[in-house]
Amino acid sequence: MIIAEQKEITRIIEMIDGRRSVLVAGCRSCVAVCQAGGEREVAALAEALRLHAAAGGLERSVETVTVERQCEKEWVQEIAHLVEGKDAVLSLACGVGAQVMQALYPEVQVLPGLNTSNMGAPVEQGVYEERCGGCGDCVLHLTGGICPVARCSKSLLNGPCGGSQNGLCEIDPETPCAWELIYRSLVRLGHPELIEVNIPPKDWMPSRHGGPRRIVRKSAVLSDEERDRGVGL
Ligand code: SF4
Ligand code: SF4
Repeated sequence: MIIAEQKEITRIIEMIDGRRSVLVAGCRSCVAVCQAGGEREVAALAEALRLHAAAGGLERSVETVTVERQCEKEWVQEIAHLVEGKDAVLSLACGVGAQVMQALYPEVQVLPGLNTSNMGAPVEQGVYEERCGGCGDCVLHLTGGICPVARCSKSLLNGPCGGSQNGLCEIDPETPCAWELIYRSLVRLGHPELIEVNIPPKDWMPSRHGGPRRIVRKSAVLSDEERDRGVGL
């Protein structure tokens, strides 16, 4: 899932300065799970913004909505009646959701209420850790199911670097050395020999280095004839 966290309230207040009507728009997916932009966070932030406006004698209406997935236009289209006439939408979705919102409503400014951080997972209540760097060429089958790109501080494909101490990373002594985790996992899986496999330098073109990525799933793309018939609408 995508991990994000809410911007400082002072930054948010700066962003909405001068706006008289704001729609705080959350998302029920990833950002709800990581407690950054779900229904509860939307309600709390909206209330804080209302209190701030009242305390400063500002004339500002703050409405709320939370959609199923802000990254899919089908869900975002459903709130057109709420977006219409607003000075701004304060998006509590990830950066993808905020952009889908902006593309659908180009006349209304969409402000990012969250800082989108990474693709990760909850490891315990309230703690989320990065797990995938989206490299576009997964090597988990060679690394015991532990990502060297996202979990090694140096993204080493053939580690370890030699600097770890007591199983902890030399860059961040609170983080386990990914390559020690990889080795232990390979041993547990009965394939310690895989640690010897030399992973060749990655072609980073399928990653960010090739520019914005696009995946076309041919089986799901509509033909011209289907589009004419309105299939998928
Ligand atoms: S190897 Fe690449 S695709 Fe696989 S988990 Fe790591 S960053 Fe993600
Ligand atoms: S100590 Fe381990 S995790 Fe840290 S940079 Fe070196 S190999 Fe990577």
